Amino acid sequence: MAYESVNPATGKLVRAFDELTDQSLEEKLAIAAKCYSTWKVKTFAERAIIITKAAEILHVKADEFAEIMTLEMGKRIEEARGEVEFSSGILTYYAANAERFLAPAELNPSIGEAYMESSPIGVVFCVEPWNFPYYQLARVAGPQLMAGNVLVVKHAACVPQCAIAFEKLFLDAGAPVGLYTNLLISHGQSDIVIDDPRIKGVALTGSVAAGRSIAARAGRNLKPSSMELGGSDAFIVLEDAEIEHAIKWAVWGRMYNTGQTCCAAKRFIVVEKVADEFLERFAAALSALKAGDPTDEKTTMGPLSSEAALLQLLDQVKQAASHGAKVLIGGKRVVRPGSYMEPTILIDIEPSNPAFRDEFFGPVALFFRVKDEDAAIALANDSDFGLGGSVFTKDVARGKLVASRVETGMMFVNNLSWSDAELPFGGVKDSGYGRELGDMGIQQFVNKKLVRTAVLEAPL
Ligand code: NAP
Repeated sequence: MAYESVNPATGKLVRAFDELTDQSLEEKLAIAAKCYSTWKVKTFAERAIIITKAAEILHVKADEFAEIMTLEMGKRIEEARGEVEFSSGILTYYAANAERFLAPAELNPSIGEAYMESSPIGVVFCVEPWNFPYYQLARVAGPQLMAGNVLVVKHAACVPQCAIAFEKLFLDAGAPVGLYTNLLISHGQSDIVIDDPRIKGVALTGSVAAGRSIAARAGRNLKPSSMELGGSDAFIVLEDAEIEHAIKWAVWGRMYNTGQTCCAAKRFIVVEKVADEFLERFAAALSALKAGDPTDEKTTMGPLSSEAALLQLLDQVKQAASHGAKVLIGGKRVVRPGSYMEPTILIDIEPSNPAFRDEFFGPVALFFRVKDEDAAIALANDSDFGLGGSVFTKDVARGKLVASRVETGMMFVNNLSWSDAELPFGGVKDSGYGRELGDMGIQQFVNKKLVRTAVLEAPL
């Protein structure tokens, strides 16, 4: 797969990049491994100087970083800027908190003293998706670099300029060469990297198919891995929900990043009593969005990330309809240059329809009408995925009970505020395993070593 910047708002190829030769790949791995030998012995304070500096550069040059993202994957410029600032915040957060998270933890053995020490494990290989070109990188770089690990990163083929900009960010911040290395490599070379004995851990964010392939490869090599995969999150609206509030989150939750978010609201499960009102208002709000140039602040809907992504989504809608679903609104490409799709709502989706289980990665909402709360929870759980989900009700205690009955890694009551530096992010079932961000995110690739001291005679 070639690394190409193609502007999805115009369809024009901006720039293409060669993949690394096997020899250059080997050189980069050698440099990363060498860098680890010095980075691992630095103090947290020494590491924090570089990570904090990288965060500052991201903040100061937010416009510059955002423009590359908008160019390569079509994110609306306002959202792109927000992502750059958030990425900066994640780096700052780990620079400030890593030492506390990784401090030795005292244990209470019956005899003597014991503690758990956290130490880095080495070079970690990350494979990352295009939908959040910097946030995904910051999510691994902040915790892992502060933990004393070193990163080699394969970014998605359609965002090479973002990938290169993020590598340069660390060099500009004063990082030693090899601390953060971008690898423009093929899937085959990615397997070679996973097999390489210098690689000690593997983190993927991407599709289920990529997860199966990369987790299997890491498993064969007995290397720890974390998998942040897809989702088909339920957005549950109970009869006592504040409908206006729920509609606003529904539109945002489905349409933010043109619907290309792993934990986006994808299945709208609404209790009978309020279903007609919700559906009518939701359809009107989605139909009001206007496709436009993502660099224009006034645009309310950007393109999909690529023509291939658009064609796949159009095909999924066609398949859904051919299996009996009704296209309530949208369903077609927008007639204009670039890879734009109309906001779409599908209804009457039976369990036998492939759409019932599929992830729709774009502006397509699946709508389900259910009898009551129990039926809503049962439907939410009837999914191969288990990333996130949300419930809307005026009764917060009720919302919490629903949240605990839905089988996912994350639940949101009356909001869809998905991600904060301090909150762990991740899923269960086909949505993967492991967590990024928060305290848990930094524990993913560290050695938890037990040290016990006790004056004991050997039991001979
Ligand atoms: P994808 O095809 O799996 O690509 C993601 C990354 O994996 C890219 O860098 C891709 O490289 C690489 N890749 C794919 N197959 C590979 C293989 N066999 N060996 C090595 N590398 C491989 O995913 P996508 O469709 O672009 O991204 C969207 C998916 O990611 C959705 O399912 C979404 O839900 C999920 N996602 C999950 C999270 C989360 O935190 N849970 C966050 C964001 C996105 P190439 O580009 O070179 O193919």
